[in-house]
Amino acid sequence: MKFELTQFNRDVPDEALLEDLIAASGILSQQGRALTYRAYKEIGKYSPSTIGVRFGSWNDAIKRAGLRPAEEKNVPIDVLFDNLKEVWMAKGKQPVYRDMSNAPSLFTASIYQDRFGSWRTALEVFVASVEDEQVELLKFEDAVKTGKVTKRTKRDPPLALRFFVLRRDRFCCLACGRSPATVAGLILEIDHIVPWAKGGETIEENLQTLCFDCNRGKGVSDAEAQ
Ligand SMILES: [Zn+2]
Repeated sequence: MKFELTQFNRDVPDEALLEDLIAASGILSQQGRALTYRAYKEIGKYSPSTIGVRFGSWNDAIKRAGLRPAEEKNVPIDVLFDNLKEVWMAKGKQPVYRDMSNAPSLFTASIYQDRFGSWRTALEVFVASVEDEQVELLKFEDAVKTGKVTKRTKRDPPLALRFFVLRRDRFCCLACGRSPATVAGLILEIDHIVPWAKGGETIEENLQTLCFDCNRGKGVSDAEAQ
């Protein structure tokens, strides 16, 4: 399940998370390093994404711990773009500047601005890169369909493919039509039309967007049908 990671440390009290941030900040400053998301991932006791979700965002957690947020430098572009995909999918539409300061975003819009010159340019380069990615995905899927790739696809679609399918379906559940763009907090999932367990491949044409509720409903009728 996609949400295991963020729930993993859910029983840890806020204070313990904040204390570990302070401890990590101390260790890092002795090494001349800043307490960034990536640095904490290396040396921290907990998952930085858990901390981000718990306090609203990574930077909010840092502030709650009484520390100063460090701007991430040199975040690889694919990491920035993966983050943009996650935020876009959670919102069900193109994020605006301030969305990047809230969970699930890990990086503020200013980081994108620094890297690309402007937020707008970052979005344009992002969309172009998504188009390229989709061309590559379709090439791979052709190879799967024509038997050039004999290995089975993995059950869980990679992020690029999830984004592709959600975008194709306009970030709406195909069963009920709802979207996180209009229903706050709605969770969209990727469903295999022919179940993976029954030989359905994880390729674009066998995947569809369903909301959490409709996907569970379908699971029930599948079980009844057996
Ligand atoms: Zn639905």
